[in-house]
Amino acid sequence: MKKRIALLGATGSIGKNAVDIILRNEGNDNFEVVLLTAHSSRRDLDILSGQFPNALCVLTGEANGNEALLSAIKNLKPDITINGISGAAGLMPSFAAIKAGSHLALANKESIVMAGQLVIRTANENNVKIIPVDSEHSAIFHLLKFFTQEQHIKNKLISEVILTASGGPFRNFSIEEMKKVTIEETLAHPTWNMGKKITIDSASMANKGLEIMEANALFCMPPDKIKVVIHPQSIIHSMIRLCNGVIYAQLSKPDMRHPIHDALYWPKTIPCNLEPVCFDSLSLDFFKPDLQKFPMLNHARTAAEKGALYPCVYNAANETAVAAFIDKKIGFTDIPLVTENVLQADWTGDSFDLEAILNADTNARIKAAEYINNGIKPYK
Ligand code: NAD
Ligand code: MG
Repeated sequence: MKKRIALLGATGSIGKNAVDIILRNEGNDNFEVVLLTAHSSRRDLDILSGQFPNALCVLTGEANGNEALLSAIKNLKPDITINGISGAAGLMPSFAAIKAGSHLALANKESIVMAGQLVIRTANENNVKIIPVDSEHSAIFHLLKFFTQEQHIKNKLISEVILTASGGPFRNFSIEEMKKVTIEETLAHPTWNMGKKITIDSASMANKGLEIMEANALFCMPPDKIKVVIHPQSIIHSMIRLCNGVIYAQLSKPDMRHPIHDALYWPKTIPCNLEPVCFDSLSLDFFKPDLQKFPMLNHARTAAEKGALYPCVYNAANETAVAAFIDKKIGFTDIPLVTENVLQADWTGDSFDLEAILNADTNARIKAAEYINNGIKPYK
């Protein structure tokens, strides 16, 4: 039987990579796309609709678009939903998929950062699996398959989760140079070709910050057991260090089609004819992240340690600051200042309460916007 797929954010970078995997020969025999969504790119969605004539298409940017998306997921009950929506807008569709009994191939890390415990509990209640598509978490998820399934044994077995980070385009910049960077420079990622928001987050390392919180929630790993190492080639996607000191790593070319392929075929391991890593002329480098230059890493660690609504607030403050940077209202190095300022308020609250989460998200955005409008001057 073909797996029925809902592809959310079909016109984005994750969406296009997913379409490529689905349209490959083996995919044609295995999958049927039942739902395609995009926010505003109607023309791209129309083209996709021609490729998948049986799929329902929803444009969320139109009147009642969000409601249409949630009810489409509820009614269609896909076998698996790929959530490639960018930002906090991905949260409610994640819940809708889980509640419809659909496995969730999750690229939208914001769902887990905002409401990790609630998302995971809801997935357990509905007997569905969250299969990470974020390359680092996909690596860890699949590495963990080789070990025991019991969470409490896993936690004793694993002494560290090591997330790799490319370091982004400003790895070798000074803080003074980073103050002056433009949006164009920020969008020139050295190894990955991704959407605008995640590319800016990679440059500030907020993306790795989000991924610390994502790993914390997905793998029940305390933040102090989650390490970050700069690895500019992006060949090793992440590693686990076991209690005996041995490290297991997952390697492939930096190509998001790998984790998408693995998620779509989960729990099977199926051949994939993407270009393999060749060791003939491969060199891999590793560096310690510079926390002075990339304070978003520290802020994420603080948010993960505080728990409660802090991770959700980190995400909301960062999204607001990134939007202001795109609008040229603030400089690049103001992004961590905005986030730090917002995180300083009291965000204790119930992380299992969806209303509290959504309120924290709204209030953090208001606070971030106030700080931007009152305090920070754009860099000349
Ligand atoms: P993108 O900007 O390229 O695409 C986003 C997609 O979401 C588009 O189809 C857009 O129409 C849709 N969308 C935008 N705003 C929306 C809204 N308000 N409501 C509903 N749909 C909306 O982004 P991307 O790079 O594909 O990233 C998508 C998600 O995957 C993000 O959470 C990102 O962090 C994560 N991710 C991406 C990559 C990557 O290689 N691109 C890697 C790891 C994780
Ligand atoms: Mg990632």
